[in-house]
Amino acid sequence: MYSKTIKAISDDLADKKYSSAELTTELLNKAKQHNETLNGFIRITEEQALSAAKKADENRAKGISTPLTGVPIAHKDLFCTQGIATTSASKMLESFIPPYDATVVTRLSEAGVVSIGKTNMDEFAMGSSNESSHFGPVRNPWDTERVPGGSSGGSAAVVAARLVPAATATDTGGSIRQPAALTGTTGLKPTYGRISRWGMIAFASSLDQAGPIATSAEDCAMLLNAMAGFDDKDSTSVKRPAEDFTASLSSSLKGTTIGLPKQYFPENLDPKVASLVQSAIREYEKMGCKLKEIDLPTTQHAIPAYYIIAPSECSANLARMDGVRFGHRCENPENLDDLFTRSRAEGFGDEVKRRIFTGTYALSAGFYDAYYVKAQKVRRLIKNDFARAFEEVDVIMGPAAPSVAFKLGEKGADPLAMYLEDYFTIAINLAGLPGMSIPAGFSDGLPVGLQIIGNHFDESTLLNFAHQYQSVSDWHTKTPEGFEG
Ligand code: GLN
Repeated sequence: MYSKTIKAISDDLADKKYSSAELTTELLNKAKQHNETLNGFIRITEEQALSAAKKADENRAKGISTPLTGVPIAHKDLFCTQGIATTSASKMLESFIPPYDATVVTRLSEAGVVSIGKTNMDEFAMGSSNESSHFGPVRNPWDTERVPGGSSGGSAAVVAARLVPAATATDTGGSIRQPAALTGTTGLKPTYGRISRWGMIAFASSLDQAGPIATSAEDCAMLLNAMAGFDDKDSTSVKRPAEDFTASLSSSLKGTTIGLPKQYFPENLDPKVASLVQSAIREYEKMGCKLKEIDLPTTQHAIPAYYIIAPSECSANLARMDGVRFGHRCENPENLDDLFTRSRAEGFGDEVKRRIFTGTYALSAGFYDAYYVKAQKVRRLIKNDFARAFEEVDVIMGPAAPSVAFKLGEKGADPLAMYLEDYFTIAINLAGLPGMSIPAGFSDGLPVGLQIIGNHFDESTLLNFAHQYQSVSDWHTKTPEGFEG
């Protein structure tokens, strides 16, 4: 009865096929029904959703509308929502109720979207499997014994299960693209600075970037139109003329060049992932693209550099959770030291503590030059590699994740194995580039993602490449069994 993409929903709402209130009610019911299995939502905000839907219907009736008016979505639970608990999936922030909305939330609300809830995630966005949430792991709708990827696993799972057509997410080292790959959804991590970070609970400020997870590139473009733009509340947001990211979606790819880094097709890559990614690339060849092997020699240094820089920044960002200003406060502290120590010991989970230890160590006097400064130099070399590559190619392609969704618990005990999940995504954050993962097929019933990387602020080209593939393939329209309704 109800359409699945934002584009189709938007057209249906304009044609009065159904109202936003009807659609929202239906999706709320579906979300409540499936949340026990998937655990994709930390909170379903029924009351607020229904009143926003009613308002959207009234606005549409008055002719006040954008293409997103009345479209239901969900927000990752690290975007501050005024009056609605925002936890970053941590015990630390279990009862934190923000007094304001994040800029992303404000902009999407102003465009008329209806949020039906806050999605589950790895604690403070640290992880690649969505198993580190204080509220329990999220399950992958393609196989509920498997992880959906992380850290935006809740957003990816609820979109894959078609509980909402799209959700907001964030990507610090892969957290939009990797879960999009593992759930067969379409995820866009924009250029650093494209979207305001104001009101996002910070993990690693020089890497964090918000973006959409949806079921098509076209829907991502529609959401980016509302989410992007300068914000004087975020000093790293970039002032650029407004763009309509849907405008370039029909440009021909004939004569464009795709860079294929040899480092992105290593010998030990899962052969099924490799073959699906290769066959997607062959489709691009058929559309008239030229292929060019490129060299990104610093690829192997991205994970080590990231795991110095991201923990360093997180150790500084999370210092504010001290039981005084923000977050969980322990019972009956004996003195101020005890208050700090016990509040933090009780409030943070293991992975977060591991990152704080690493980061504090890397930033400490005597180690700062050897670790943090060195990692920043490596970061520059990584950025230079991409800049050189983009002199010759329009986009770069490769896998988004090294394997399909793995079993819950499979990598939880081995942080290094988990960190390697981001082998293909992390360098893009270090370089500040935009990247996407789009569905490229299935291996034994589990989705595989093709990663497309664009040049700085060239989301239009990136989205068009994704859209052209989705015009000749239907992987992105597949819905997991049991969630079709
Ligand atoms: N998996 C990476 C990490 O744990 C990236 C997470 C993210 O992008 N938020 O740090």
